[in-house]
Amino acid sequence: MVTDTKQYYCPRCGFPMDGGMCRKCSQDEVTWEEEVARKKINGAVICGAICFCVTLLLNLTGMLGSGNYYIFDLALLAGLTLGVFLKSRVCAVLLFTGSSLNL
Ligand SMILES: [Zn+2]
Repeated sequence: MVTDTKQYYCPRCGFPMDGGMCRKCSQDEVTWEEEVARKKINGAVICGAICFCVTLLLNLTGMLGSGNYYIFDLALLAGLTLGVFLKSRVCAVLLFTGSSLNL
C-alpha cells in the first residue's frame, strides 16, 4: 500500500512510481532477464537431451562395450537435465561438471 499521496514518476520511462520503484521498468527487467535465462536453459536442456540420446544409442549398439552401469549414467543425465529445465542452479553446475569429466 502507498500511503504517500505525492506522485513520483520514473526518471527512466516516466511511468508513475509505486512505492519508490518503477513497476514498469522492474517488470521489463525481469521479463528480459527471464527471457535470456530461458534461452540459455533451453540450450542446455537440448544439449542434455542430445547427450542422452547419443549415450543411449551408443550403449544400445554396444559401441561403448558391455555392462549396465550406463543406466546409472543415463538416469543421472536425465535427472540433471530435468533439473536444469526446472531452473535448478545446482543441477546446472552438476551437469556441467559431470559432462566435463566425462569428456
Ligand atoms: Zn521506469
